[in-house]
Amino acid sequence: MISQSQHVISRFAPSPTGRMHLGNIFTALVSWLVAKKYGGKWLLRIEDLDPQRSRIEYARQIEDDLHWLGLQWDEGGIEGSDAGAPYIQSLRSDFYNEALAALTEKGLTYPCYCTKADIAATNAPHASDGRIIYPGTCRDNPPANPSRPPAVRLRMPDLKVEYEDMVFGKFKTDMAAQWGDIVLRRADGAWAYQLAVVVDDAAMGVTHVVRGVDLLDSCAPQSLIADMLGVSVPQYIHLPLICNSDGIRLSKRDSSLAMDALRTCFTPRQVIGLLASVAGIMEKPGEISPNELIDVFDISRLPRKDKIIIDLCNRKNFGTAITGK
Ligand SMILES: [Zn+2]
Repeated sequence: MISQSQHVISRFAPSPTGRMHLGNIFTALVSWLVAKKYGGKWLLRIEDLDPQRSRIEYARQIEDDLHWLGLQWDEGGIEGSDAGAPYIQSLRSDFYNEALAALTEKGLTYPCYCTKADIAATNAPHASDGRIIYPGTCRDNPPANPSRPPAVRLRMPDLKVEYEDMVFGKFKTDMAAQWGDIVLRRADGAWAYQLAVVVDDAAMGVTHVVRGVDLLDSCAPQSLIADMLGVSVPQYIHLPLICNSDGIRLSKRDSSLAMDALRTCFTPRQVIGLLASVAGIMEKPGEISPNELIDVFDISRLPRKDKIIIDLCNRKNFGTAITGK
């Protein structure tokens, strides 16, 4: 439980790669409620680490959609990104460089010159979900005359990491078997999500991380990197993924439950009311504002489910549109 005296800071950290959908808004609403319920602050951080897919226009659209929903951030966003403390990840390389240098200083990193093809050609082990685990080629036998700029990898210790999610409970992960020597900075200079998130959450004082359950596994490397950097590990609150009527997780390409469709068909109070019922705050979808939910919001009522199916093909089924899985 969170005590009223705890200084709560939560954040919403969207990638500006398209219009938000109902799943993104659910995360935004719950992270906002976690902050407001306990008199804390809600930050907006733009996670544009993928230069090919990220666009500033999408970030502006996200801000406009949050305004429409009635979710106002206390810090961050595009305007909050002054040169000293930007909330846009592409402007935060100095922070990531500093963290990488600290890990390197402790002997926890090494350069890796392998291409994807090099790794595929080895007998690399696989994690339980099928992902290839880096076989440690450059850790064990660094090339004498490398001909390309390297990626930087974390020298993963052979240990098990334990973490606890406030909704899904306790987990234990074998880091060598499930993650191995993960990339911290790619050969093209792009920063890995796992490093950037830890550095940003620590620098911004984030106490509560609210996000989709697809990122639950990331708690293991993130809490390990936080320990390595000597910063505190935040509390984690993971949420079910919102799926369309076919049971498929919403994506930025899926238009049926995207913000433009929602803004055309519904009022902000209806969208918030729908998500309040998903969050276990209201018995069934109604019409309500975020502010009216603050008192009744209760983390212990968040659904411990991987998926919630929402079928909003027409306005008539608005009140009966939700199925849990
Ligand atoms: Zn390598």
